[in-house]
Amino acid sequence: MIKKITRRSACLDIRTRWTSIVDNAIGNGLRETLRTSAIDALPTSDAFHLSRPNSSAKVDKGRKIGIDTLILYLSPAGEAVTSTLCEDSVPACRALCLGHSAGRMIMTPSKLARLWRTALWLGDREAFIRLLVLDLESLATSAKKRGHVTAFRFNGSTDIEVPDVIRSTCERLDVNGYGYTKSLARAMDSVGTRYPLTFSFSGNVDRALVARDHGANVAMVFDTPVGHELPDAIVMGHEPVGVIDGDISDARFLDPKDIDGRGLIVGLRFKKAKAINKGLKQAIRSGWVVEADKVAF
Ligand code: SF4
Repeated sequence: MIKKITRRSACLDIRTRWTSIVDNAIGNGLRETLRTSAIDALPTSDAFHLSRPNSSAKVDKGRKIGIDTLILYLSPAGEAVTSTLCEDSVPACRALCLGHSAGRMIMTPSKLARLWRTALWLGDREAFIRLLVLDLESLATSAKKRGHVTAFRFNGSTDIEVPDVIRSTCERLDVNGYGYTKSLARAMDSVGTRYPLTFSFSGNVDRALVARDHGANVAMVFDTPVGHELPDAIVMGHEPVGVIDGDISDARFLDPKDIDGRGLIVGLRFKKAKAINKGLKQAIRSGWVVEADKVAF
């Protein structure tokens, strides 16, 4: 019988080899200037996690309706790696990425946490997956005790392919995978699977129409302030397309489709942290943020 690995032993293994893991990560794209920071950023506890359930205000809304959510935050484009972990990102989203700028993510401890996780992802993929599977198992066990549904978003602040072993772990544990992507191919491939991806609009209407026609919902960020209503519908491809409020919860796997099976718009409000106030105009100019009173494409 194969002995099940414990969190303590998985963490001890990482700690013992951490310096060489960080060096491997540098060989795979982690910025060399961050070597010391990455080494120091590894948590000091004996049994650490890559991610804990309900760790942001947005997914906490899900907890209130019986969904326990785990979101993994790695370093987004331009933060800690020489090659990007968001290959379809655009300049405006890179400049204003939630991962860099909004809510709790603006704090340095969050950045350091993303740094060690990214170093582990780049430096020892097997150890990373082992720890993530343990996190998913913990999520499933604790949610079961409370009678909650579980959800997992691999790309909280990146846009990379979800490893097959993580998809199959989600299936085994009955965890609902979900996420957002700027990759049209990944969004379309995910339609009808247990890991649906919402296509993120970046100003290109043709790509959004292809995603919608293929049955993928399209996430669109509006300049609507927090606390105000989003438009009910927009005109895209000469026809009205319904908008659902994506800020009510992050549980994208529960989102409906249009009556003909095509995708709907998942409306999100632009979150204005102090540091990004100036960025709204730039984001609108780039097409990444849509003006709610001019919604015909
Ligand atoms: S693709 Fe997404 S995660 Fe990456 S920089 Fe853009 S908004 Fe951030």
